[in-house]
Formats: sequence, structure tokens, C-alpha cells
Amino acid sequence: MPTSVLMERVSSWRYLPVALALVLPVLACVAWTGWHARNAERQEAESAARIVRVQAQHILGQAWEMLDRVAALTALPCEQALPDLRRWGMLNPYFRSLFLVRGDRVYCSSAVGQTDYPLSGFRRWSVDTPPDQWLVTVSGTPLAPERPAILLGRPGVDGHSGVVVVDGRHLQDLLGAVATLRDYRIELIVGEGAASIHSDSKGSAATHGQLVHGETTLYDGRAAVTIRVKAPPEAVVLAWQQLMLTYLPFAVLIGVCLAVAAHRLQTNRQSIKEKLRRAILADEFRVHYQPVYSHVSGQCSGVEALMRWHRPGQGDVRPDLFIAAAEAQGMIVPLTRHLFALIERDMGGWATPPGFHVGVNIAAEHLSSPALASDVERFAAGIAARQPVVVLEITERSLIADDGQARRNIDALRARGVRVAIDDFGTGHCSLSYLQRFPVDYLKIDKGFVQAIEPDGQEAPVLDAIIALAHRLGLSVLAEGVEADYQFDYLARRDVTFIQGYLFARPMPSEQFVRWYADHPLPRGARRESGRLGVG
Ligand code: C2E
Ligand code: CA
Ligand code: CA
Repeated sequence: MPTSVLMERVSSWRYLPVALALVLPVLACVAWTGWHARNAERQEAESAARIVRVQAQHILGQAWEMLDRVAALTALPCEQALPDLRRWGMLNPYFRSLFLVRGDRVYCSSAVGQTDYPLSGFRRWSVDTPPDQWLVTVSGTPLAPERPAILLGRPGVDGHSGVVVVDGRHLQDLLGAVATLRDYRIELIVGEGAASIHSDSKGSAATHGQLVHGETTLYDGRAAVTIRVKAPPEAVVLAWQQLMLTYLPFAVLIGVCLAVAAHRLQTNRQSIKEKLRRAILADEFRVHYQPVYSHVSGQCSGVEALMRWHRPGQGDVRPDLFIAAAEAQGMIVPLTRHLFALIERDMGGWATPPGFHVGVNIAAEHLSSPALASDVERFAAGIAARQPVVVLEITERSLIADDGQARRNIDALRARGVRVAIDDFGTGHCSLSYLQRFPVDYLKIDKGFVQAIEPDGQEAPVLDAIIALAHRLGLSVLAEGVEADYQFDYLARRDVTFIQGYLFARPMPSEQFVRWYADHPLPRGARRESGRLGVG
């Protein structure tokens, strides 16, 4: 794939986090308000249904009670039963009429007195259930064909039955009142498969109403009471819009704030990465070399290469800061390759003997990259004229994070004469098991342990343990950060072979190192006689 196409794709993907930061709060707001509007609608419909249910059950309760009394009257002829039927029918406003039935004919009614009306006459108002089931909602009765009613009946004596006709008007009014709250259409059915009593809805809910709540409850184990609450479909949308009007501005504000923050973070990151890249191109990096003293040779046996960044007009950037930034921004591998190039350039002017150690710090990402072996081989080939020994300084952290590639790199490079040192030993995680598993050559004791050495020569037990451990494992030991004679003496007494620190020499630019080295290639002991290490 051409690089430019790749770059374009990468750059358009770059805005994804910003776009997400902007859009996600808005989407969340839309989803939440939608859910909330629907939920509120359902809860209100449930409350409306509850009011209707309680009132319907209240009326049915009175009707069942009355039915027992009416059924008892079937034992009497109509003339004797009629006064009671009339009185009860008149006193209770919920009842349209109370009547007695023999076979298929109504023979006595609180409304019309003695009569002979075919029960089948009621059938034309019922939807599909014959009224001889005696628990049915009908859309009308012979007395009031336009008004719904609930018929309740039960057998009395000798094939006679008593019937209570509950007037649907009261329930209809109640449904109407409740329905006006939210432009609902509410339907009530007592019994099954029958006509319904419903609110007179003029609104669209009557035709296109969406069922928001439906329930069927059994009253007293006898009467199935079904209530359906329908609402116009736009009701939810309207409630949703209302909620959105309230909350959307906040969501947009949060989205904008997040997007700005994401953009800042990104440009910030981008700029650090960009700055590092430009600094490499502008040749702003330099390498300082810190000499390492060897007890074996009694002289400088090598150096550690330490990166320095001088920003024109702005001064030096602390190495721990820009190295950490390069690691975080995926720039440490290019930066280390640049370090190799700088060392190659510097070493062209050196006069170090074969076997001189050149230590370079290798970050975890590079160590576990398949590119490391070829990078280091190219570097070694570039400085081969002086025949140095390349020492890779790696941290315990990068060993712990290894998925196998680091190990393969180490094995391949050691087979070609590259050495490996564990840097800052003792400051990372517990590393003893890794030490056994990874083939390394040197252990660099962190300066923190060296600083724990007391001037009065008291024991530093942790340091002693580390040194003993390294010796047991057959590793050469290097102590870092040695600044004082008493530290040097303490370490010398414990056979620490290599010493690095300000006592011996500070890190210095290549040209200065060349001069310093010309002054210090002294054989073992020569300098120590005339005062310690000949610190430069
Ligand atoms: P490090 O690898 O532990 O390097 C040793 C640090 O100790 C260096 O700090 C050095 O200047 C300092 N030092 C040496 N002798 C003494 C002493 O006697 N006393 C005290 N107090 N300090 C001493 P520097 O150069 O600031 O580097 C800091 C860290 O930055 C290094 O720690 C290393 O982790 C990292 N670093 C530097 N250059 C590179 C590089 O090229 N690549 C990578 N990956 N990391 C680097
Ligand atoms: Ca180091
Ligand atoms: Ca170190």
C-alpha cells in the first residue's frame, strides 16, 4: 500500500476519539430520554388502570352481594318479589335493573315489573358470548340500547335465576375522566369475549391508539376484569421531545467539553511525537558517555551511552522525561536507532582497544520487537572497526513482560557476542525467577542501594544479598551511582568488579571522552597509588 494512502487513512482515523467524545453523550441522552419517556408513559397508564380497577372491583363487590339476595327471591312469585327488587334497584345507583329469569324468559324486573321477555333478546348487544353465562359486558340492554352494562347472574331455585344489571354509565364516566389526563382510550371488559366499556375518546387514540398497558385480574376468583389503556402514538414522542429539550443542551455541552479535552490530549500527544521526530531530523540529540571502571583491568573498561536532548533556544530536556515520552508515544524504537547512528558517528574518532564495552539502554518495547536483533547487528557492524563489545542494558520490567520474543532476541544476540546487563537491578518487580531463566551477563546494581552504604562502613544487608546472589549466579556485578570513596571501598571489598559513578567520571560528550580516555588508559593500580581513581 502506498505510504501516502496509509497516512491519509491514519489521519482520518485520528479524529475518531474526538468525534466519539462529541457524539456519545448526545446519543446517550437521546437513548436515555427515549427510555425515560416510554417508562413514564407506562407508569402513568398503570396508575390510570389502577384507578379503574379499584372502582370496577368496588362496584362488582356490591353487585355480587346484591346477586345473592336477588337469587334468593326466585323462590317467590313475581308479585311478592317485586317490592324488594324495586327498592334495591332504586336505592343503589349502580344498578340499572334486577330481574328474575325462568328458563329462557325474564318474568320479573325491578324496572318494568312483571314481564315476559326472551332472554335471547340480550344477545344482540353482546359480542359473541350468550348472556346466559351471567358474567358479561354488553354494549346495551333493551331498556337502554345505547349504554353498556355488566350482567351478573346466578341460579336460584327450580331452574330460576337472579340477574343484576350493572349500569355501565358510572364506569364510563370514570374512564372518561381518567382518560382525559393523557388523551387515553381506556377499555374495560368484565367477563370474557364480550363487549367493552370504554372512554369516549375523540382523539386519535380511538383509532390509532397504541396499547401502553393491558391487564386482566380476577375479582374474588369469579370475575375476570380486563383493562386496556391505549395512547396516541405521538404522546410518547411528545414526552420524549419535552425531555430532550430539557437535557439535550447539557449533553451537547458535555460532548463539546469532552471533544475539546480529547482534541487537546491528542494534539498534545501528537506534538510530543512530532517534536521527537523533528528533533531527530534536526540532529538535536547528542550522546554522553559515562566511563565504567573495572577492578580487573584497573582502568576504564567501557562506557554507558546516555542520550541527551538540547532544544535550541529552550535548553536541555531531562532524559528520564523525554525517554518516558518516547516510550509512551511509540517513538523509543526510532530514537534508539538514532542513538545507534550517533554512537557510530562518535566512535569513528575513538581510540579504544578491542573488547571495550559500549553499553546502550534498550527499552522494553524494543526488546520484545522482532526488529531488535537486526538493529543491533547493523549497529555492531557499523562500529566493528574498533571491535567493541556491545552491552544491552535492559530492565527487569521488560523481562517480566516478555512473551518469548525478548528471549529469542537475547539468545540470538548473545550467540553473536553481544552481552546483556540487567539495569537498575532491585528496583523492579521480584526478579529472581527471571534471573534463572534469562541468560544474562551483568547485573547493574541501582544507585539507590549504593547510596545505602554508610560512611562508617556499617553493613548494607540488602546490597550484600544482591551481590552474593549475583556471584552465586555467576554474573559480573556493576555498581551504579558510586560517588564516594567509602562506597568504592565497600564495593571493592565485596568483589564488585565494575564501578560507574561520579567518583570515577561523569557522563560527557564524545570529544571530551576522547580527551579523558587519552588521559586514563592507565594499567591496573597505577592511578590508585597517586590518589584513588584519578577522577576526571
Ligand atoms: P540509567 O540507565 O540508570 O542511567 C544512569 C543514570 O545515572 C544516568 O542519568 C546518569 O547520568 C546517572 N548517574 C551516573 N553516575 C551517577 C552518580 O554517581 N550519581 C548520580 N546521582 N547519578 C549518576 P541520566 O543520564 O539522566 O539518565 C536517566 C535515565 O534515562 C537512564 O537511567 C536511562 O534509564 C534513561 N536513558 C538515558 N539515555 C537513554 C537511552 O539512550 N535510551 C534509553 N532507552 N534510555 C535512556
Ligand atoms: Ca542504564
Ligand atoms: Ca541504571
